[in-house]
Amino acid sequence: MRVAVIGAGILGASTAWHLAQAGAEVLLVDRDDRGRATAAGAGIVSPWGSKLEDGPAYRLLEAGAAYYGPLAETLRDQGEAELGYARVGSLVVPDSTADLDAAERVLRARAARAPEAGAVERLGPDDARALFPPLREGLAALHVPGGARVNGRLVAAALARAAEARGARRLAGSARLLAERGRIRGVALGAEELAADAMVVCAGAWAPELLAPLGVTLPVAPQRGQIVHLRRPGVDTSRWPTLSPLNSYYLLAFDDSRVVVGATRETGSGFDHRLTGGGVAAVLNAGLATAPGLADWTLEEVRIGFRPLADDGAPLLGPLPGLEGLLIGNGLGPSGLTMGPLAGRLLAQATLGQETTLPLEPFAPLRATVSKRAG
Ligand SMILES: Cc1cc2nc3c(=O)[nH]c(=O)nc-3n(C[C@H](O)[C@H](O)[C@H](O)COP(=O)(O)OP(=O)(O)OC[C@H]3O[C@@H](n4cnc5c(N)ncnc54)[C@H](O)[C@@H]3O)c2cc1C
Repeated sequence: MRVAVIGAGILGASTAWHLAQAGAEVLLVDRDDRGRATAAGAGIVSPWGSKLEDGPAYRLLEAGAAYYGPLAETLRDQGEAELGYARVGSLVVPDSTADLDAAERVLRARAARAPEAGAVERLGPDDARALFPPLREGLAALHVPGGARVNGRLVAAALARAAEARGARRLAGSARLLAERGRIRGVALGAEELAADAMVVCAGAWAPELLAPLGVTLPVAPQRGQIVHLRRPGVDTSRWPTLSPLNSYYLLAFDDSRVVVGATRETGSGFDHRLTGGGVAAVLNAGLATAPGLADWTLEEVRIGFRPLADDGAPLLGPLPGLEGLLIGNGLGPSGLTMGPLAGRLLAQATLGQETTLPLEPFAPLRATVSKRAG
C-alpha cells in the first residue's frame, strides 16, 4: 500500500514513521512553512494538571504522555537518541492555598490512574526553589515526578529520519491533492504527479487551504503563539522541572542553560507572522511574576508558531467521509507535542485498516458539520 503523508510536523512525521514501520510504502511531503507549530512548541509533556475535563481528548493527552517512554526507547534502538526528552518532573505553582488544595485533588486523582506520573507531593517554598532556583520566594508547589519535556523539532526530525531509514521517501514542496470519482488518487508537487492509495493530511493550520479545492471545509484555524527563550550560560538547567502556574503561561528548561517561557494564545490571529509588543510583554510579565530570578537572563530568541486549533478545541483524527482514502490529522492545538506521536500511531493504524489503540470516533474530522446537519 502506498500512502502519502502531507506535513512533516510532529504529527505527520509520526504517522509516516508508524506507517513505514508497518511496511507501507510512504511518501512524506513537507513545505517547511514559517510558523509551523512543531518548530515553536514549548515541549511540556505533563498532562495531569491540564484543564481538559476527563474525556476522550484528556485520555489521548494522558496516553500520549505515557507513549513517550516506549517511543524514545524504540527510536534509540533505531539510532535516534536526540529527542530532548527528559522526565525532569513538573511543578504546579498556584498562587493561593485554596487553588493549591483544588489542584492537588485533581492531580492526585489523575496520577492514581497513571503510574508514570509517580507520587504527587506537596513542596514548601524552599524545596520548590531548590528544584527551580529562579522561582519566586514563598511559592508552595505540587511536584509530579513523572512530568517531562521534549524538543518538538528534534522529535519530528528523528521520526522523519527513522521513517526514511525504513524506506519512506521525503519530498520538499507544496502538495496538492489529486482525487477522482470520490477517492484519492495521489499527490501533485508542481508538475509532478505521484500516485497513492491513501493520503493522510497532517498539514497543521494550513490544512483548510489544501482541502478547499476538494470542497472540504475543515473547521481549523491558526492560533498564534509567541514564546520567549532566555539563556544564562554556565547555569546547569538540565534537570529543572517544568513549571505551571494556574494560568495559561508556563516555564520549562532545556539542557543548554535555557529557560523557555510560553506563550500567547492568539485565537483569530490568522497567519500574521509578527512579534507584538503586547504579546512579548504578556509572556515576559507572566514568566517573571512566577520566576523573578530570570530577570537578568539574556533574551535570546522569541519564536512564533501557529497552533492548528479546531473550532471546538478537540483533535481531528481519522477518515474523511465522502472521499475514500483520505484521512485527517489535525487540531492538536496547545497539546500536540504531547499527543502527536501517539496520534500518528492511531492514524497509521486507521490508514492500514487496523484496530486503533484508542477509539477515533470522538475525533471524527467533520463531527461539527455532521451534528449541525443532524440538529
Ligand atoms: C508557542 C507554542 C507552544 C506550545 N507548547 C506545547 C507544549 O508545551 N506541549 C505540547 O504538547 N504542545 C505544545 N504546543 C502545540 C504543538 O506544538 C502543536 O500542537 C503541534 O506541533 C502540531 O503539530 P502538527 O504536525 O499538527 O502541525 P505543524 O507542526 O504546524 O506541521 C504542519 C506541517 O505541514 C506542512 N504543510 C502545510 N501545508 C502543506 C502543503 N500543502 N504541502 C506540504 N506541506 C504542507 C507545514 O509546512 C508544516 O511543516 C505548542 C504550540 C505553540 C505554537
